[in-house]
Amino acid sequence: MTKTLAEKIEMLPSLKVTVDAYGLMAKKALGQNFLLDSNITNKIIKLSLEKQNLKDYHGIYTYEVGPGPGGLTRAILSQSPEKLTVVEMDERCINIMEDIKAKVGEKLEIINGDALQEDFTNKDKAPRHIISNLPYNISVPLLVKWLKDIKHFQSLTLMFQKEVAERIMAKTETKDYGRISILSQLSCKIEKLMDLNPNCFTPAPKIWSSVLLFTPLERKLTQEQISKIERISTLAFGQRRKMLRQSLKTISNIEEILEKLNIPSTLRAENLTPKQYLELANNI
Ligand code: SAM
Repeated sequence: MTKTLAEKIEMLPSLKVTVDAYGLMAKKALGQNFLLDSNITNKIIKLSLEKQNLKDYHGIYTYEVGPGPGGLTRAILSQSPEKLTVVEMDERCINIMEDIKAKVGEKLEIINGDALQEDFTNKDKAPRHIISNLPYNISVPLLVKWLKDIKHFQSLTLMFQKEVAERIMAKTETKDYGRISILSQLSCKIEKLMDLNPNCFTPAPKIWSSVLLFTPLERKLTQEQISKIERISTLAFGQRRKMLRQSLKTISNIEEILEKLNIPSTLRAENLTPKQYLELANNI
């Protein structure tokens, strides 16, 4: 009888054995903190599926950045995706992926490269879901890249350093609120799935981590709106202690635009809601 993907994954040696066999010492420069406990990786995937009312990844194209030794990779494959594409820079991890591919065949596509250079939007068909325990040094640039293309994705399930997750979810008028909160909250509904204690990782980082689920909002921003929101928020938060009439003064007619939108020009960057940034973008 042919085996299911989950059964094939079950037959792999344990992650610990795999890591030892490949002598996989984590490299700090590649942001490597590995998840070697399958209870945790399976829980991340289960929580993400549950929140999306999905039974599994049947019929879904999945993408993972930085599979490392393959803990999350195994958890994703166990949920029967149409295909999983992994992008990894570390050659040692590519060898580990090849061992998994030997078991699961074309269900796994392996790309040895830099995720910042990869475009998932012209690969395969929708539905597309991204899942990653992100390399912390490029987590925000990767998120921004995917948010700009969010209409091509059905969900992003991403692990960040907890303080970065807090900035993403931060409310107006808090110290954590900033450019990434605005772009994230204007593009997606964001839910925290779990916090992870440093001891869940090998090696243990100094700080906690959080897993967030991003589900695109129905109203999609255009590329023009996104560029304008970036321009305005960069100016405003570049001088966050200054009043808007000062920090945004290089935008022509800004005082009239603020008045038309009933936004006092004496407010500062952190006082405006994401929606008000969008209104401003629509009027400059
Ligand atoms: N997914 C694994 C896990 O949870 O155990 C590893 C996560 S580790 C935090 C980040 C992974 O991203 C590492 O395997 C690292 O080699 C990889 N990585 C770092 N920079 C990358 C890049 N620019 N493109 C693709 N992968 C990258």
